[in-house]
Amino acid sequence: MNLIFLGAPGSGKGTQAARVKDRYGLPHISTGDILRAEVTQQTELGREARAIMESGRLVSDEIVLAMVKRRLAQSDCGAGWILDGFPRTRAQAEGLRGILTELDSDVDLGVLIQVEPEEVVRRLSSRRTCRGCGKIFSGAELAPDGGPVPAEGVCPACGGSYYQRDDDREETIRERLRVYEEQTRPVVDFYSVEDKVVEIDGAQPVDAVSDAVLSILRDRFGERE
Ligand code: AMP
Repeated sequence: MNLIFLGAPGSGKGTQAARVKDRYGLPHISTGDILRAEVTQQTELGREARAIMESGRLVSDEIVLAMVKRRLAQSDCGAGWILDGFPRTRAQAEGLRGILTELDSDVDLGVLIQVEPEEVVRRLSSRRTCRGCGKIFSGAELAPDGGPVPAEGVCPACGGSYYQRDDDREETIRERLRVYEEQTRPVVDFYSVEDKVVEIDGAQPVDAVSDAVLSILRDRFGERE
């Protein structure tokens, strides 16, 4: 079962991809997570990618394709995988097709999580990420009384510290949405032509979105692999 999760930043595709990973035991490959790890480890790639990521623009197709090619060749990807945040451009979709042809494989399904832009801005500007366990918290989880969400604080899950990602500031969010419309929408069309895209309403509560995703996967691929 080879899946790609499509949708604007903040649509909840990462959360949903993680839940599918838990259910089906497939590797969850997030290019954003891989790039952030490179930045944290201050590798050469991380140093190159950092400013681009902070501005909300996209890292070059060559870099990201090479990263994904290496990852998909690892042994845990043999029974399937979940790609999250990739492909992000038409060139990446074409590059992925080339990589998969070499592996005698293909994308089975694209899951598109649909959310309106204003909801994305609202969600992302209040979301926080834990430095320790990587968990992502919504503003409502951290400030249930509806008050302002602190930029930094103690992670309720692991006791580490949560922070606001540089690219989760409003100005950058709007740039990421613009980039999504301009460069990533064509990826949806790329897979729609092959009739490989299912659309899910991402404005529903997170558990309802998961139910919808898992029900589609059950219908198409059976209970578990
Ligand atoms: P994400 O966590 O998926 O929102 O990604 C955060 C940032 O990493 C993006 O805004 C891009 O700068 C970069 N990035 C992640 N995935 C890709 C990709 N497939 N192609 C280019 N840049 C990417």
